[in-house]
Amino acid sequence: MKWSLAIHGGAGIIEREDMSPKRETEYRNGLLDALSVGEKILSKGGTSLNAVEASVRTLEDNPIFNAGRGAVFTEKKTIELDAAIMDGKTAKAGAVATVTRTKNPISLARAIMEQSNRLFLAGEGADDFSIAHGLEQVQPHYFHTELRLAQYEKWRAKQIDKLNKSHIMGTVGAVALDCDGNLAAATSTGGTTGKICGRIGDTPIIGAGTTAINGIAAVSCTGTGEYFIRESAARQICDRIKWNGQNIHSAAYDVIMAIGEIGGDGGLIAMDANGDVAFAINDMGMYRGWVADGRAAQTSIYPDDVLKSEGREARTTKEMH
Ligand code: ASP
Repeated sequence: MKWSLAIHGGAGIIEREDMSPKRETEYRNGLLDALSVGEKILSKGGTSLNAVEASVRTLEDNPIFNAGRGAVFTEKKTIELDAAIMDGKTAKAGAVATVTRTKNPISLARAIMEQSNRLFLAGEGADDFSIAHGLEQVQPHYFHTELRLAQYEKWRAKQIDKLNKSHIMGTVGAVALDCDGNLAAATSTGGTTGKICGRIGDTPIIGAGTTAINGIAAVSCTGTGEYFIRESAARQICDRIKWNGQNIHSAAYDVIMAIGEIGGDGGLIAMDANGDVAFAINDMGMYRGWVADGRAAQTSIYPDDVLKSEGREARTTKEMH
């Protein structure tokens, strides 16, 4: 494959009976839009870095995903957004946490990577950097949606178990390989419903929720972030490939299982240096999609809904064993 692009829109308990056909179509169309934006860049010889940023921006702008517009609320009914991007070619990365006014946090992460000698900014300083570097600002109201407000109200009423679990998650991410053999990864999230203000998950932590290393792998994770941080999930996949001789599928499988063993839930997308993709999910569904040189875009939602490529991968890695 000359180029390849995989995306996710979050993992969760996603069951067919809870999903209306209309809602399913909205998710699939949202994924296809993001794939198409990235595909246009990669198929013309553009960089994987541009492709993952553009795909994630598209998902951030779509209110059905928990990133940018449509992000979940904190315990104080505010919005705090986290994002990270990594360029496998240069091994440079940029990350932001708890930003409140930037329309597209993934582009702020990229601006930090390219326009400062720092990697990770949080809170007010990140918001100030965003304004100073001309990133589009919005009023907090822009991020609000009825769906997330309803989730928040139920959470407030301590009825978390009554939430529609298929819509709790929704972190977005992309991994890509370009025609020059460069890998990149990007992830963006509103975090978890009712999170304590100031809480930062795995998404913006390089090596936990996001990483890209040329010649090895690009990874983007979603799920209960604290567990992905404790397992250094994204980096662990790279290290298993580099030092343990594992392929992308067995490395992704082992890492998602390790997260499950300590009590974490979620999924991840991982792409190797040839553009081969592993979609690893621990007992859940994950909004996901894949497009590559010579292969039409495909989307998938449920755990048993396998993406096909010449009769093997890409698939939920749990099914491999
Ligand atoms: N991993 C994200 C976090 O912990 C949430 C998610 O992926 O749904 O902030």
